[in-house]
Amino acid sequence: MKDRIYIDGALPQWKGNLHLHTTRSDGRASPREAIAYYRDAGYHFIMVSDHELYWDQPMAEAGDMLLLAGSEVSLAPHGRGLHSIGDQRHKSLHLLLVYDERLRSVQPPPWGHGQAIPRQADTGISAWNQLIARHKSQGHFVFLCHPRWSRLLPEDLLALEGCQALEIWNHGCQASESVAESGYEWDYCLSRGKRVLAIATDDVHDYADQARQGRGGFTMVSAPEGDGPSLMDALDSGRYYASSGPLIQDLRVRDGRLVMRFSPAQEVRLVAAHGYAPTHYPPPGQASFTSLDWPLDPGLLYVRAEVIGPTGRKAWSQPIFLDDLA
Ligand SMILES: [Zn+2]
Ligand SMILES: [Zn+2]
Repeated sequence: MKDRIYIDGALPQWKGNLHLHTTRSDGRASPREAIAYYRDAGYHFIMVSDHELYWDQPMAEAGDMLLLAGSEVSLAPHGRGLHSIGDQRHKSLHLLLVYDERLRSVQPPPWGHGQAIPRQADTGISAWNQLIARHKSQGHFVFLCHPRWSRLLPEDLLALEGCQALEIWNHGCQASESVAESGYEWDYCLSRGKRVLAIATDDVHDYADQARQGRGGFTMVSAPEGDGPSLMDALDSGRYYASSGPLIQDLRVRDGRLVMRFSPAQEVRLVAAHGYAPTHYPPPGQASFTSLDWPLDPGLLYVRAEVIGPTGRKAWSQPIFLDDLA
C-alpha cells in the first residue's frame, strides 16, 4: 500500500465559511456586519452566498480575511407539484458556487458583483445536472447544500453529477429543523463508489441567534499559503475537511496504517465500507486522546474518520479511497 498525506501537519490550515446570508437576501445582518462578524472571529476566508445574487467585491471590513466570489443558487419550482407533496415539500436543489480564483485572468466570473442569477424551472434530475455542468463550465467549484434539509433521496444523490462536495454539516439547518448532518446520504454515495467530499458551513441567517448557539460549521483548508489561488489548489485536490469544532491536525497513510493527530477527542469513529473499522476511545483513565494509529484493510472501498470533541462537536475527514493507495 502506498503512503499518502491527506492533511499535512507541517502546513498551516485556513478556516473558512462558504455559506452565509445577509440583508441582500434573507439574512438579518448587512454585508458589512456579516463580514465584520467573521473577521472578528478569526476566520481566514468567507463567501457571502446570498440566494441568486453574485458576490465579487472586496470590502474594507474584511481586513486580511479573503472574500471569495460566488453565490447560493437553486431552481424555480416548476409549478406542477413535482416536489411539493407531503414530506417532499422541501425537495429542492441548492448549490454553492465558489469561483475558482486561479481563472481570473483567463475566465473572469460570469456575473458582476450584485448581479442577479436567473433561476430556471426545476424539471427534475436532468435540469439539476445541466445546472451543475453549466456553473462548473463557468469557472466554479460546485458544492451541494444541506442534502437532509432538501429531502434529497439516495437515488437523487447517486444521479447527481459534478458536485465536488456536499455539506455534511449545515448549522443553519440544525437550528431550524435539526437536519444539519447528512451522514447517511454521504455514506450511501461513498459505499456505492460515488466519490464526493464534504464541507461544513454555518448557513447563518440570524446572527444574534447564532452568536447565542455558537458558530456551527466551518471548513479547514490545508495549504502552504492563504491566498486565493493556493486555497483553490487545496479545494481542487481535496486537502480540506469539515468541522463543527474539533481540528484534524494531521492525517496520513503510512506503512499501511491510518495515522491521525487531532485536537482532544472523547471518541473517534472510523466509518468504512465494506468491512470492519472500529471506534477509538481514550486510553483507560484518560478523558481524551489526540492521536490514533490503525492498520488499514486494503480490501475496504473507503474509510473516513469522525472526531468527536469534549462537547460533542465533530470533525469529518474526507474519505480515503483504498484504490488510490494500491
Ligand atoms: Zn439553501
Ligand atoms: Zn443558504
